[in-house]
Amino acid sequence: MNDLETFREQAHRVVEMMVEYFRNIEDFPVKAQVRPGEILDRLPHFPPEKSEEMDQILRDYGKKILPGMTHWQSPNFFAYFPANSSFPSVLAEMLTATLGAQCMIWETSPAAAELEERMMQWLIRMTGLPASWEGVIQDTASTATLVALLTAREKKTGYRINEEGYSGNEKFRVYASTETHSSIEKAVRIAGFGRKNLVKCLVRDDLSLDPSDLRQRIEADLRRGYTPLAVVGTLGTTSTTAIDPLEEIAAISRDYGLWLHIDAALAGSALILPEYRWMIRGIEEADSFVFNPHKWLFTNFDCSAYFVKDKEALIHTFEILPEYLKTPTRGQVNDYRDWGIPLGRRFRALKLWFVIRSFGVEGLQAMLREHLRLARWVSDQVDQDPLFERLAPVPLNTVTFRLRPSGRNEEELDPLNAALLEAVNRSGKAYFTHTRIKGKYAIRFMIGQTHTREHHVIAAWERIRRTALSLI
Ligand SMILES: *Cc1c(COP(=O)(O)O)cnc(C)c1O
Repeated sequence: MNDLETFREQAHRVVEMMVEYFRNIEDFPVKAQVRPGEILDRLPHFPPEKSEEMDQILRDYGKKILPGMTHWQSPNFFAYFPANSSFPSVLAEMLTATLGAQCMIWETSPAAAELEERMMQWLIRMTGLPASWEGVIQDTASTATLVALLTAREKKTGYRINEEGYSGNEKFRVYASTETHSSIEKAVRIAGFGRKNLVKCLVRDDLSLDPSDLRQRIEADLRRGYTPLAVVGTLGTTSTTAIDPLEEIAAISRDYGLWLHIDAALAGSALILPEYRWMIRGIEEADSFVFNPHKWLFTNFDCSAYFVKDKEALIHTFEILPEYLKTPTRGQVNDYRDWGIPLGRRFRALKLWFVIRSFGVEGLQAMLREHLRLARWVSDQVDQDPLFERLAPVPLNTVTFRLRPSGRNEEELDPLNAALLEAVNRSGKAYFTHTRIKGKYAIRFMIGQTHTREHHVIAAWERIRRTALSLI
């Protein structure tokens, strides 16, 4: 530890770089403007044999790496869904990195396990999820959904497939809508159900799952000898933030004894607003629920909050107990390695603690309400502008629309809108991505970045309009 003084000096320099980064973040092109291989070409083919100066490493970071980054913390980031950080979250991540702890079981870091337990209880209180449920932090919603489907499978079979493997006679079916996230299909494949056994139900006009179609497909599957296993409902689809009708899906799940998993990766954060709690009416009937504080709750990736009704089923599915992990505290505490797939776990509860305390629930609510207000503003601009057409309802923070000048036929619109998106992104001043809605190419305007304020949204909309006018 004799170079602690050097570490102090370098750490202070890194903090200065962090501050300058946030100060100047709007000077960088939001979307990285590099071609494939450009960064690779700047990096030596072989690792250094001898120690290099931190000065040099930091200079290269600025010169070679930063220009190849897309700036997710830019207030002009309107693409995908956000992957937010915030200042308190960054501070906690610095401490987590410093501790470098493996938080796999209670004994390997009791405070990490108990803070995680309390933070999951806080999130339950903040979101209105059932008070009797329990939560655990997973790396991503993708992992949480896989964990949900595996638990559903094991509970259904009396934990037999974990023991014996598939007999070959199982014909499990999992249901979701055509708008469901790709991670559901991935989970179905990994769980061994087979991609063809993910049944995609029709959506209604607002792009939410049609419960009558769900019921019909389950009935049809039963007649054909399949075993309906689980339904995945989405609150806030990735394309348009459509909200599946939880109460009706829950009633169907109950009728057929299906596991009901809710994917609320983005929209779960909105549950901290009482006016959005209607989204989880019927949640008591569900079995599991995931949302990502690393999306819209200002907490660095990775931090996915996974909640279950039946903790025992989860643990029964994943626990494994080699001699070297046996501890005398087992049974009195949460050993989170039994609550999911990886053994090793980062200390992720700390950043949630910092974020929730630092903003307070009211502060978090105010930020979300502002994003939602700005999304309604964009939606109004689109609706009032004869050049543009909105392509889906806006229940949350994402507006989907396209440029549609009069006199253009349908085939011209997709390439025109792709050109508009490309031109705006090339400016470096804002970053948007696209989707396809009922076959139509749509630009997505997502408002949810930590630092986005009204003037950023107005400027971005003006840029879209000006660019559109230059293209038609
Ligand atoms: C972002 C998203 C996911 C995937 O989230 P990860 O945490 O990256 O796995 C899943 N479902 C929905 C609806 C999403 O928006």
